[in-house]
Amino acid sequence: MAGPVPTLGNPQSTIEILNKYRFVFQKKYGQNFLIDSHVLDKIIKAAKITEEDYIVEIGPGIGTMTQYLAAAAKGVAAIEIDRALIPILQDTLSGYENVDLINEDVLKVDLEKLVEEKNGGHPVKVVANLPYYITTPIIMGLFEKRVPLKSVTVMVQKEVAQRMQAGPGTKDYGALSLAVQYYASPYVAANVPPNCFLPRPGVGSAVIRLETYEEPPVRVTDERLMFAVIRASFNQRRKTLQNGLSHVPELGISKEMTIKALQEMGISESIRGEAMTLQEFAEFTNRVERMRNLS
Ligand code: SAM
Repeated sequence: MAGPVPTLGNPQSTIEILNKYRFVFQKKYGQNFLIDSHVLDKIIKAAKITEEDYIVEIGPGIGTMTQYLAAAAKGVAAIEIDRALIPILQDTLSGYENVDLINEDVLKVDLEKLVEEKNGGHPVKVVANLPYYITTPIIMGLFEKRVPLKSVTVMVQKEVAQRMQAGPGTKDYGALSLAVQYYASPYVAANVPPNCFLPRPGVGSAVIRLETYEEPPVRVTDERLMFAVIRASFNQRRKTLQNGLSHVPELGISKEMTIKALQEMGISESIRGEAMTLQEFAEFTNRVERMRNLS
């Protein structure tokens, strides 16, 4: 074990530290600190952390999960936006020599460079109790910028976890499901009620593990076009794919092209995006892209 046994992860020690530093919660930063050691153990287990792993933690708060991560992993880079938390983190993490504290907005950090510096460019594990107001930009940023990742294990709003793992034909299925499932295989490891946090959030939470693929599960010649097609088809959820896409002229996909591609694929012309699999979106995109190039 790299460092002392964690002392945080219960209401008493959390309140003690908050009072010692007269910490004032910043609502705008989505601050809900974990106060349940069972939940922390579940997150560590879901992330399958070993002493070989380097961890990037987003939003360490007062360092509760950081203590658990530092005790289990080779090293941790903890990125916290709130300057008022830095002296607290220096205190709660003083016994751990394998933690680097970074006082930054995670959305502005060059994570690829960080992984290069801290882990020689080898894939890292991201583990976090995320600030819910920026869950999607954080996760999509990690994937789209091709940060070398083994997995992403994060606490998110329960509904968001459901959307990430939803399949075609369900009410939760949408652009987020397809984007996440293009990069990773999702698995909900635990549901977590509001009373495990201080202060209590107004929503239920879940721990989701996203195991990143080495290669995407589908082949697509123009990724950006596929995601633009996906977004356009879910923006017009109640519309058929052909109507949805014809509402976004920038795509350059005419109704005729959509109908022809669907016919070639043996799919009904009146299909809606919400019924299409990732495989079908990829194949559809490849076909219309070829047609666009020929026209
Ligand atoms: N990890 C701690 C825990 O589990 O008790 C705190 C989790 S709390 C839900 C989210 C944390 O993310 C807060 O400490 C908040 O200040 C921090 N945060 C919010 N926005 C951030 C950003 N853009 N970059 C880095 N950290 C951020």
